Amino acid sequence: MNNNSGQCCPPTRRPGCLQFLFFVCLCTAAAAQAPTAKEVDAVYPDAHTLYLEIHQNPELSTHETQTAAKLAGKLRGLGYEVTEHVGGTGVVAVLKNGAGPTILLRTELDALPVEEKTGLPYASKVHTKDDAGRDVPVMHACGHDRHMAAIVGTAAIMAHSKDSWHGTLILIGQPAEETIGGAKSMLDDGLLKRFPQPDVAVAMHVGNNLSAGQVGIVPGIYNTNADSIRITIYGKGGHGSAPHTAIDPIVIAARTILALQTITSREVKPREMAVVTVGYIRAGTKNNIIPDEAELGLTVRTNKADVRKQVLAAITRITNAEAEAAGAPKPPLIDRYEGTDLVYNDPALAERLKAALQSALGKDNVIMDEPITASEDFSYFVEQGIPGFYFSLGGADPKKLAEAKAAGTNLPSNHSPLFAPDVDPALHTGITAEVAVLRNLLHGSAKDLHQSISGSAAPGK
Ligand SMILES: [Zn+2]
Ligand SMILES: [Zn+2]
Repeated sequence: MNNNSGQCCPPTRRPGCLQFLFFVCLCTAAAAQAPTAKEVDAVYPDAHTLYLEIHQNPELSTHETQTAAKLAGKLRGLGYEVTEHVGGTGVVAVLKNGAGPTILLRTELDALPVEEKTGLPYASKVHTKDDAGRDVPVMHACGHDRHMAAIVGTAAIMAHSKDSWHGTLILIGQPAEETIGGAKSMLDDGLLKRFPQPDVAVAMHVGNNLSAGQVGIVPGIYNTNADSIRITIYGKGGHGSAPHTAIDPIVIAARTILALQTITSREVKPREMAVVTVGYIRAGTKNNIIPDEAELGLTVRTNKADVRKQVLAAITRITNAEAEAAGAPKPPLIDRYEGTDLVYNDPALAERLKAALQSALGKDNVIMDEPITASEDFSYFVEQGIPGFYFSLGGADPKKLAEAKAAGTNLPSNHSPLFAPDVDPALHTGITAEVAVLRNLLHGSAKDLHQSISGSAAPGK
């Protein structure tokens, strides 16, 4: 609606009856989108209690049994129709509220094998056995505990204010985000067949790069394609004192690691984004034994399909060539055991929701951000043809963030044992932002919503 006054309803104009009704309708919708402080304050204590409980009882990927049960119980208590064990420990909660769009909002359920060193009074002390049977500490070092707390607060507000929106709301608790398996397992278990088909999928992630109270939006490419690669290099074992009788896989591995660094520095076009990190090397048992194999673990990040192809091909070429150069008895085993595509935010959808978030949080608190090099499996939902909106939630104490920036350092990032975002302002903001986004999308018809979406796919895919 063209409105030169810049206000929602032009006060001096005397519109015709239909026009007037339209203006009233727009005003009501805009006003209804942002939850009031009173609405958020009313649900906050429950959300905060859940946060503390989940923080102190973290569970590893695919083992989120108690976490999922807790989330399911809360959502069921709010009147949602809840299905558990979708794709493992996944939770699907549906709230129908008449005709209109169907919107999916996702939280993750899983924590990480990290020993918490935040010093918080409610720090996790949990240890468990990982899938390999090793004793590991467990911590919600990625902030998924805050996401679950926020979604429960959001769920309560949406359930208590059904006059402010219409359509179908689907909340999902997704397992195993950290191992890039949960979104796929929920889809494989019929997420889009057993439950209503979403028109838009939304997710939020907390981080320490923005102040608590702020949110960040990245239209288009939000993060990167990720590939996990395990390389086994074969040699010939022998006595450490007689290397001439052996073929040393540790030396081949060392040469391979250095040669792999030339992919990004010498082969990929300088303006393209690519990361090749060797995160571990495992070989040998004793100083005087030359082992017969060495294993490398790589993570590869890119944001274009052709660069991804180029980097993966270069890894294979270099790894094979180094083994051959050393006279290895057989070619290395190169196993790409995990992969996920980048998360792409529909640009028109991001623009629409930027306005909704600005009106909910204030213009200065909505930051137009840059793509990040992390990855995640929310892309699986977008790949199904569901337009996505994935945004960042600021978690940093503004004073500490300013001090770190001035000193040229960073606050502890996600996955750090020291990751401890400011809970109170971040959780309030997370709930406010999610409700504002959902009310904006759950307004009007599904057809209107689709018309406001650009529907473009990630470039180079
Ligand atoms: Zn993470
Ligand atoms: Zn995460």
